This record gives sequence, structure tokens and C-alpha cells, in this order.
Amino acid sequence: MLFDMNISASIKCKSCGKLNIIDVSLFDLSNRDLYHVDCDCRTNILKIKSSDCKNFRVYISCLGCDKEHLYIFNSRQVLSEKVKILTCPTSRMDIAFIGNRKLVRDMAMQYERDLQELINVLGI
Ligand SMILES: [Zn+2]
Ligand SMILES: [Zn+2]
Repeated sequence: MLFDMNISASIKCKSCGKLNIIDVSLFDLSNRDLYHVDCDCRTNILKIKSSDCKNFRVYISCLGCDKEHLYIFNSRQVLSEKVKILTCPTSRMDIAFIGNRKLVRDMAMQYERDLQELINVLGI
């Protein structure tokens, strides 16, 4: 059986606020020591480390508290149907989504819409 090894991550840059959606193949990850993604503004937003294509250490530069957080997943978790929501342990903000490509995109768009609505309601 052939598995879909592609996932996406949606992360907002802590420096410029841009929403980055990153496509990653889990196969690619196993071939390198550290998978490193920068925003257009050159701020590092994501690092993924995997030694065996099964377990992943995901480092995310946090928008909420300006620190870097580590989340650990296995491939079954990230490839499952549900999108993982990564929350900052300090500020409790949702700082990233990771998982199925389509679902991550849907969720990121929904999130942006909600945020825009909130801004409209508050009249900021
Ligand atoms: Zn940026
Ligand atoms: Zn944080």
C-alpha cells in the first residue's frame, strides 16, 4: 500500500506576521539532518529533525512568546486525517497547524477569516 507522505505546516511569522504554508514530504526529511524553513523576511520559522522517517522533532519559532518550542510527532500522527494544532505553552496561542495538505490550508484560511472578523467586530 502506498501512503501519502506529504504534509503541510501553516505558521505565522513572528517578525512580519506573514502566514506561511509549507509543503513537506516526509521522505525528504529522512535524507537530511535538519530541515530548515525561513519566511520571506529571512526569519526562521520552522525546523524539523527526523532521524528515521518515523519520529519528528518540530521546532517552531513562536509568535506568542518569542521562544522556540519543540513538538514531537510520529509519522502516523502527522499523516492521520486530523490536523494537529500546536499551541504555545506560555501564551496559549495557536501558533501552527500541521498535517494533511488540504486540511491545513482549509484550517489556515478559516483561522484568518475568523481573525479578520474579530478585528472587524472590535473595530481595530
Ligand atoms: Zn516574516
Ligand atoms: Zn510560545
